[in-house]
Amino acid sequence: MRSAFELTLVNGPDGDPALVADLVGAGRAVLCDLGTLAGLSPRKLLRVGDVLLSHAHLDHFCGFEHLLRVVLGRARTVRLVGPEGTIERLEHRLASYSWNLAGSYREGVIFSVVEVLESGGRRRASLALADRFRCGQIETYAVDSDHVLDEPRLSIRAVPLDHEIPCLAFALAEPKHVQIWRNRLDAMGLGTGPWLRSLKDAVLADAPDVTSIVARWHTPHGSVERILPLGLLRRKVLEVVPGQRVVYVTDCAWTRRNVERILDLARGADTLVIEAPFLDADRAQARSRRHLTAREAGTLGRWAAVRRVIPFHFSPRYAGRYDLLEEEVRAAFEGRLAPAEPPRDP
Ligand SMILES: [Zn+2]
Repeated sequence: MRSAFELTLVNGPDGDPALVADLVGAGRAVLCDLGTLAGLSPRKLLRVGDVLLSHAHLDHFCGFEHLLRVVLGRARTVRLVGPEGTIERLEHRLASYSWNLAGSYREGVIFSVVEVLESGGRRRASLALADRFRCGQIETYAVDSDHVLDEPRLSIRAVPLDHEIPCLAFALAEPKHVQIWRNRLDAMGLGTGPWLRSLKDAVLADAPDVTSIVARWHTPHGSVERILPLGLLRRKVLEVVPGQRVVYVTDCAWTRRNVERILDLARGADTLVIEAPFLDADRAQARSRRHLTAREAGTLGRWAAVRRVIPFHFSPRYAGRYDLLEEEVRAAFEGRLAPAEPPRDP
C-alpha cells in the first residue's frame, strides 16, 4: 500500500508529453507538461493543482487551452511552474482571447506562475480571470533551495537543464508516507472512509496524541461513528515510512552538467520518467536536437539506481518499432548493454 503516486502518460510513450501524477487518496494531482490533453477527463483535470512545464516547445505546451476551459469559471488557484519567460508567454497566450465577458463569471481561476531561473532565483506573478488575465506585479526573489513546493504531503524540486534553451526537470516526492493497515483497522472494528484522509493529515501535521479523530464509515445498516484519540490510532493502525519520489526528465542534451543535475534529482528515486526519443544508432540526430538517446536514458536510470524507468517521448520516426527504443532503455538500465559513454563536453 506504499504507492503514493499513480502515473499516467496521457498520450502514451509516443504522443505529446503530458504526465499526470495522481496523489493517491489526496484528491489532488500534478501535471507534468501540457502536450495535447484531449485524452484527459475534466474530472481528472480538476484534480490538477500544480502544472509543471518543462519548456515551451509546442508539443509540451499546446494543451494549455484544454486545461483553461475546464478550470476557467472555478474558484481555484492553479500553480504553474516553468522556465524563465513563462509569465510573459502565458500573459500573451491569454491576451490573444477576448475577455469582455469575464465580469459575468461569479468565480474564476487564478494562475499563480513561478519561473525557475538559471541563476537559481525565481520570478512570480498571478494572472486572474477577474482581472481579465492581465499580469499582476512580477516579483523577483532569491531562494536557497531548488524546491518549488514544500508541503507535508508533497514536495517538488525543479532544476533547469540545457536543451539549447532552458528545460526544467522535476522531482515529485511524498516526504513521508502514512501507511494504514487494513487488517489492523478490521481488528479494531473500524471501517474505511474519507476519515482516513483526516487521520493522515493529522499524522503529517504532527498533531498531538490527544487530538480527537472522528472515524465515520458506512455499513449496510447505516453509518457508524466513533471518536478516537490520535495517539491510539498512531500506535495501532498505521506506520510512517519514507515516501516515494518520481522524477520527470525530458528534452535535454547529453552534457556533463545535465547528467550531474539529473543524477542529483534522481538518485535512489522510485520512478524515473525519462525521454528516450532516439536509438543509440541515431546518436548524431539526438546530439543535433539536444535530446537523449534511449541508451543514455537507461544509463541515467542505472547510474541513479532508481527502482524503475519509464521511457517516453519516442520520435515518430520509429513508428511501428517503438519496442526497439524500450528495449534499448531497459538493456542499458539492467546492465545488459554497456552504459553510454560519459559526456565529454568541457
Ligand atoms: Zn519535446
